[in-house]
Amino acid sequence: MADLEPIRFSCDCGSVRGHIARSSKPGGTHVVCHCKHCRAAALWSGAPDPDPDGVGVFQTSADRVRFTEGQDKVTAIRLTPKGPFRWIASCCSAPLFNTASDPGVPFAGLIAARADDPAMLGKVRMHIFRPQPDGSSKWGGSPAVIVSMLTGLAAVRLSGRWKDTPLFDAATRKPLATPRLLTKDERATLYPPRAY
Ligand SMILES: [Zn+2]
Ligand SMILES: [Zn+2]
Repeated sequence: MADLEPIRFSCDCGSVRGHIARSSKPGGTHVVCHCKHCRAAALWSGAPDPDPDGVGVFQTSADRVRFTEGQDKVTAIRLTPKGPFRWIASCCSAPLFNTASDPGVPFAGLIAARADDPAMLGKVRMHIFRPQPDGSSKWGGSPAVIVSMLTGLAAVRLSGRWKDTPLFDAATRKPLATPRLLTKDERATLYPPRAY
């Protein structure tokens, strides 16, 4: 699978490093998420408020992820009991990836800011969950883009490649690190009103 130059990523302090292997370009789908939870995760990490630009996420599959340094510093949080796993570098709190809680749903979203060369992620294909003037948010996904993403994930699932990820143990389906659910107090400051 590693035919092309991989997409390298690192945490803010550089202790955690790795790459996303790819057999075609760009090897994933670059989206921008405006949902309140992605914003909350950014605020939790101490990053500047991503509003109104949103959080860039490179959607790929978990079998492509490899850590080359600092895997022991990879940990995870959850904002809500059923929310996705948000993989974090414990050294500097930098968000690295989002994944489902079940490795059988093998998506992995690399936080775009972690890419050493963001140009390798390709152009933004869609903006999702953009807030609307009435206070709701618009899903905004493009059907063609979604279908191509789901087709890719289905192939990973059917081929059994989903088992080959550092983020989960394939036999037990247990995550590399047990995600810590943030407390109510921790969450309290992470959902400020939006300016738009
Ligand atoms: Zn770090
Ligand atoms: Zn989001």
